[in-house]
Amino acid sequence: MPQLIDPFARAITYLRVSVTDRCDFRCVYCMAEHMEFLPKKELLTLEELDRLCTTFVELGVQKLRITGGEPLVRKGIMGFFRGMSRHLESGALKELTLTTNGSQLARYAQDLADCGVRRVNISLDTLQSEKFRKITRWGRFEQVMKGIDAAVAAGLDIKINAVALKGVNCDEIHDFVEWCGARGFDLTFIEVMPMGDLGEEDRLDQYYSLRALRRDLEARWTLADTPERTGGPARYVRVAETGGRIGFITPLTHNFCESCNRVRLTCTGQLFMCLGQEDEADLRKVLRERPDDDRPLVDAIRAAIARKPKGHDFDYSRQAVLGQMSRHMSHTGG
Ligand code: SAM
Ligand code: SF4
Repeated sequence: MPQLIDPFARAITYLRVSVTDRCDFRCVYCMAEHMEFLPKKELLTLEELDRLCTTFVELGVQKLRITGGEPLVRKGIMGFFRGMSRHLESGALKELTLTTNGSQLARYAQDLADCGVRRVNISLDTLQSEKFRKITRWGRFEQVMKGIDAAVAAGLDIKINAVALKGVNCDEIHDFVEWCGARGFDLTFIEVMPMGDLGEEDRLDQYYSLRALRRDLEARWTLADTPERTGGPARYVRVAETGGRIGFITPLTHNFCESCNRVRLTCTGQLFMCLGQEDEADLRKVLRERPDDDRPLVDAIRAAIARKPKGHDFDYSRQAVLGQMSRHMSHTGG
């Protein structure tokens, strides 16, 4: 089948899929403490997820990232990973990966490796147990450390994702570089994005620019730019002292849209062509109306890609959160 190419000649080869909006943590920048989750019947079933992802693979998607919510708390999710591994075996899919908070990795790391997963992104915003509890509200640091150990034991490559939170973890950036460097983990810093209403939490209070963070790092480490690009918003440097790699995801201070190769599928089957725009396509409707015929689904996907916008409108520069998205990251998939 012909590949998915958007109106700006970008080939769409990367699909991020949120498999649940639920989570066992309540990170302060991601969720309100008392979240209302979607009724189960709204979620795509695992069979529907398989059918959708398979269709995308047939349309040229080579990289699939499973996320959420916390993907590993979804019941039966290993069955889904096992299903997707057939596309790795056929060679159609080049990479199957996930973003996780690490809480369930002690249980699942080996199974994931057995399904052909080679790398995991683990979100970890602090190396201090007590602070970890404050940021995640419900998370247990020691449990995540055990998960990371299990991932290492299973041979998975690890990238640590840390959201830069002003006045919260910016004092730990050197510890992160050291800790990841010593273990051979990649490290990525992420700017807080304006996703979802957080109740009493204030976005501008949380925001710390990665330009400032990079300057802070350079006071202690020698950073060399690398030309690596993944088609996403990350820019990479090498740390001379550790040999480790650090990525900066700066959707707010940098424009990365021109090389965007990705789209996002929510846990309810909406396809978002851009993380920072409201336009979406309801693939669940097509999927449920035509359970035995994939052609309308393929047509709906192509029609959606034909509407992929040039870029997003996030902007904090006027001391107000412009371009704020009403949906939560856990719904769209971070
Ligand atoms: N639960 C998994 C986890 O935490 O890795 C996967 C889903 S989580 C929504 C994916 C990533 O999005 C995490 O690295 C998290 O830190 C990040 N994230 C969540 N809300 C964010 C926000 N408002 N701004 C920037 N990153 C955010
Ligand atoms: Fe859960 Fe991940 Fe959001 Fe934290 S960032 S609340 S772990 S979905």
